Amino acid sequence: MRVGMNALFNDIRRQYFSNWKKGIHWVAESYEGRGYCDRNYKKLLIGKPTENYGYICLVIHEATHAVTTKKHGKRWFNRMIKVSNRATELGDHDLAEELASHVEWVKSRHDLGPGDVYARVRDITTDCPNATLEKVTEGVAEYCGQTPEIVRREYPRVAEYYENARLCLRFKSHQEQDQEIGRGSTGI
Ligand SMILES: [Zn+2]
Repeated sequence: MRVGMNALFNDIRRQYFSNWKKGIHWVAESYEGRGYCDRNYKKLLIGKPTENYGYICLVIHEATHAVTTKKHGKRWFNRMIKVSNRATELGDHDLAEELASHVEWVKSRHDLGPGDVYARVRDITTDCPNATLEKVTEGVAEYCGQTPEIVRREYPRVAEYYENARLCLRFKSHQEQDQEIGRGSTGI
């Protein structure tokens, strides 16, 4: 899968980011969490596709961060639309449409309220029990189309929700252990 993802990225890079000379030093690989553009390691981590957005769209999403900024700001939006227009030129109308709708979806994430953001903290922490606060914050940032720095600043209770979700997990796992013990002893 790792090799396959990188081959897909190279195709996309040649077709849609032909002016990105430094792109040759980048690699892409599949990732269990949400997608992420890692500038330090020149790596695009590609999350799982959804019903609406496939791998090509997700690779383009992260590659667009690499050539613009890590924020879902004006530069990222404009570059995504440029890629969508390029897909139309190349006759790939399905991809063009998918990209345009993906951009709209990402834009809509910017209007999330604190309740949505904190619920997301809880969900990610519950789904990925080994994730550090930093990783969870990155996931939340991607979800709401912001940088982790902005999330930390705008949503000061992220750490609190993270700790609470972890407490719940620990409590649940103790409960399960107790049930195991309970079941084991019923035969005696
Ligand atoms: Zn993004």
